[in-house]
Amino acid sequence: MSNKVKLFNKFGIMIVVKCMKHIMNYQRDALINEFLDLSLKKFNANQVFDWLYLKHEYNINNWSNISKEVREIIKNNYDLSFIEIKKKQTDHLTSKYLFRLNDDNLIEAVLMNHDYGLSVCISSQVGCNMGCHFCESGRLKKVRNLETFEMVEQILLIEQDINKRIDSVVIMGIGEPFDNYDNVMNFIRIINDPKGIAIGARHITVSTCGLIPKIERFMEEDMQVNLAISLHAPNNEIRSSIMEVNKVYSIDKLIDTIRKYIARTNRRVTLEYVMLYNINDSLECANMLADLIQGMNVYVNLIPYNETSHLEFKKSPNINAFYDQLKKRKINVTVRREFGGKIDAACGQLRSKEVD
Ligand code: SAH
Repeated sequence: MSNKVKLFNKFGIMIVVKCMKHIMNYQRDALINEFLDLSLKKFNANQVFDWLYLKHEYNINNWSNISKEVREIIKNNYDLSFIEIKKKQTDHLTSKYLFRLNDDNLIEAVLMNHDYGLSVCISSQVGCNMGCHFCESGRLKKVRNLETFEMVEQILLIEQDINKRIDSVVIMGIGEPFDNYDNVMNFIRIINDPKGIAIGARHITVSTCGLIPKIERFMEEDMQVNLAISLHAPNNEIRSSIMEVNKVYSIDKLIDTIRKYIARTNRRVTLEYVMLYNINDSLECANMLADLIQGMNVYVNLIPYNETSHLEFKKSPNINAFYDQLKKRKINVTVRREFGGKIDAACGQLRSKEVD
């Protein structure tokens, strides 16, 4: 809806500026309500959803079943702009997209061809403030949160580019999704709309470095979305040495919160563990990790480190031994397949090269 904002110019004269909300910031019900306020019809909102999310027609002038008058009202009240693909790099299973936002900020998304379907990893912020020492995204501090439409459009533009539907979405690109909680939840509800992009909740994963208050909020949402936690260490000493967030939300409190989440939602949680040479990859670490999570409904996803400009961190050669030790200890564990090392697909790498 067009919100009128009152500002004062340099002569102290009040000016009223119309600031339009983007049409893709709306869940269906919210758009219907606003359309009714604008004296439009409920079915007009459904038509808009069909054009955007089913027919993938983004030019309002081609929305042929909507009258010209109604289209004018929509144009006058909503922003319909698109972010753009600035660059695309592809190897045989992965494509990395660099997007330019309307204010010229850059973000990235990665498309992966799994044997079970097409998955997209999207960004949730421009930069990141969480300060994980090994991560490229954090080299560029958070500039701002992404708006909902900027997340939705990452998916729409990739679908349009490859002319195929996406099967699953992970919110693991640049940014900390729980530091942009409301927009991320809104985004999830929009892509989950069964008559829209229709990505099933079980095919959506949100990954957090461990912002406990937001995990607590997330467990009260009525959603079947998967939760992944970037654990990356078996104790406070190691975790605090590589992840600033652990100094605020320590590993013991985090594990307690994950236990609460599992009890509340009855859902299994993924624990991500990036394998860093000589930091968290010893058998002793594997045993400590097994002790920490024994009996919990979790599985550990071991992530081969994608080397970045943080030269002090190296990829661990001990992934198999670590994996075997966790197996021996009866922990559910998988090793993440490596995607896109050659095309700078690690979080923030492509953007970081462009911005430096
Ligand atoms: N902020 C969220 C989501 C974005 S990062 C989070 O922390 O979970 C997605 C995952 O990639 C995190 O587990 C992160 O720690 C990990 N990661 C960051 N840099 C990496 C790199 N260079 N190689 C492998 N994994 C990396």
